[in-house]
Amino acid sequence: MIVRPKIRGFICTTAHPQGCAANVRAQADYVKGTGGFAGPKRVLVVGSSTGYGLACRIAAAFGCGADTVGVYFERPASGTRTATAGWYNDQKLELLAARAGLAAYSINGDAFSDEVKAQAVERVKKLPGGQVDLVIYSLAAPRRANPRTGESHSSVIKPVGGVFRGKSVNVHTGVVSQAEVEPATEQEVADTVAVMGGEDWLWWIHALSDAGALAQGAGTVAFSYIGPEQTHAIYADGTMGMAKKDLERRVAEIDALLAPLGGKAFVSVNKALVTQASAAIPVVPLYISLLYKVMKHRGSHESCIEQMYRMLRRLYAAGTAANWSAVPVDEAGRVRMDDWEMDPAVQQEVMDLWDDVTTETLEQTADLTGYRQDFYQLFGFSVPGVDYEADVEIYSNGDK
Ligand code: NAD
Repeated sequence: MIVRPKIRGFICTTAHPQGCAANVRAQADYVKGTGGFAGPKRVLVVGSSTGYGLACRIAAAFGCGADTVGVYFERPASGTRTATAGWYNDQKLELLAARAGLAAYSINGDAFSDEVKAQAVERVKKLPGGQVDLVIYSLAAPRRANPRTGESHSSVIKPVGGVFRGKSVNVHTGVVSQAEVEPATEQEVADTVAVMGGEDWLWWIHALSDAGALAQGAGTVAFSYIGPEQTHAIYADGTMGMAKKDLERRVAEIDALLAPLGGKAFVSVNKALVTQASAAIPVVPLYISLLYKVMKHRGSHESCIEQMYRMLRRLYAAGTAANWSAVPVDEAGRVRMDDWEMDPAVQQEVMDLWDDVTTETLEQTADLTGYRQDFYQLFGFSVPGVDYEADVEIYSNGDK
């Protein structure tokens, strides 16, 4: 079958098997090219098929030689419908890990459920020593069925307390306009916190701790975002920000669980990047395309793999047995992987461009080409070296 991109709103409903495989290979090659470092040897990644979670799994596997367990929620191919990108990504990751002699077990299911947590614990039990050194929590989900209350929650990206008005861009048409988003109701705030807050992270650590599946000194990291003033009303001070504050509040509870092991929980504030999750947030695509322009020009641009590689290097600067108290954190105890993004000089340049950008000046002012390329690449399109006119097998990534 010849697979073409089909864009529907913020997502692409098709994925190219070979393009996805090439993306994963490129990330693994980047990490291998750095020469590797002493870090975690057994890693569980919740949300491991795309974006930051996938990059972290690749960085741990090919940077530190880690055996990994990954949990994700992706759709395999059916009929003439392609699988989702994350499904192809995972196939490739497993293949590359096997070739490198590394264990890479994956579970495709709902990470919020007790069943999937139990399956993951069982998988961890099969790793050397039956434990993990590091748990990465990288879910970005639209909804969560709470297995204990039976309630279903949907997350929304809305401001809290007032209407949001701000510049936004439709990255596919290149039209800059004024976005207006109505504030969330109290229920929507509570639902978004239920989906994207820290309760489920805590439950994961509980499940692993109860099963004795956390190694001495085990660490865990969940991801957050802050960003510049211009995006605060829609993100940091909006429903998602409320969920991220909940995530940060859970650190103390998780630390209490890890303390007997000498372990530590961190929230890492990551850079704004094009992923399936961030493409859906108003204003953020405009900000990202301006940020890319500035950071690429300065030579400080990173994608998910560079961010996650740098994060692991920072966490494990002391080697395999991480020295958690030596990890540099901000005044709120967070790891700041957004340090290069939030560099005042970078932000000043972005904001100068922000004030001036219009539909007419967008192509020159912003790196829209880079944004679009990254967006298409999320789904395995626009990947150099892939023949998009070739007939491809959609039930695998065509790579034995
Ligand atoms: P993503 O959409 O690329 O990845 C989300 C992952 O979660 C995928 O592996 C998906 O399969 C998995 N997932 C979703 N629902 C699931 C479920 N019910 N069960 C199992 N797996 C499920 O997202 P991302 O951008 O990499 O985001 C990951 C984290 O990083 C989020 O917490 C996000 O807020 C944070 N973050 C993202 C950015 C950014 O700019 N993209 C910046 C900072 C922080």
